[in-house]
Amino acid sequence: MTSEGFFTESDRFTVSRASLLAESLVLRYFDLPPDEWVKNPYSLFTWKETAPWLRDSNVLAQTVRIGSKKNRKSAQVKDDTLCYGVLLQDPAILRALLRPHKHDLWTLGLFVLTHELVHIVRFRRFSVDFFGSQEDRNNEEKVVHKVTSEILSGVENTDKLLNLYESGLKF
Ligand SMILES: [Zn+2]
Repeated sequence: MTSEGFFTESDRFTVSRASLLAESLVLRYFDLPPDEWVKNPYSLFTWKETAPWLRDSNVLAQTVRIGSKKNRKSAQVKDDTLCYGVLLQDPAILRALLRPHKHDLWTLGLFVLTHELVHIVRFRRFSVDFFGSQEDRNNEEKVVHKVTSEILSGVENTDKLLNLYESGLKF
């Protein structure tokens, strides 16, 4: 087990492997070009690379946006200079692994990363407003979860995790 809730090197290797599978599953679902993630790379952060004020052990992960935008209201304007990142919250994920449901980091990582990559695709290609109202964000969560469920249906052992989402796992 880790000290202070940080991923070990081996954990980090596992989640980066899971991210590769999540990338290809999301690519296939949205019928995106094969070089989507090359042209629009995202960064994968764990607590090790994350400033203390961005650490939040109450959620499993977040999508973050890197690069400033002068007019935040004009979210519909396409801005190719923006980059997205997935911020994994190590302790929340490690804590979730300790629940009596017996899922492993590979499966949970795949679930979390697929969810976050769906967010990124929807921000980038479906004009979803990153700075939407709380109500908009709640609705977007439902859409993202539905898409994630469709993508992961029949993949690995994710069915239990999909059910767990409704019972309080947060992204
Ligand atoms: Zn989400």
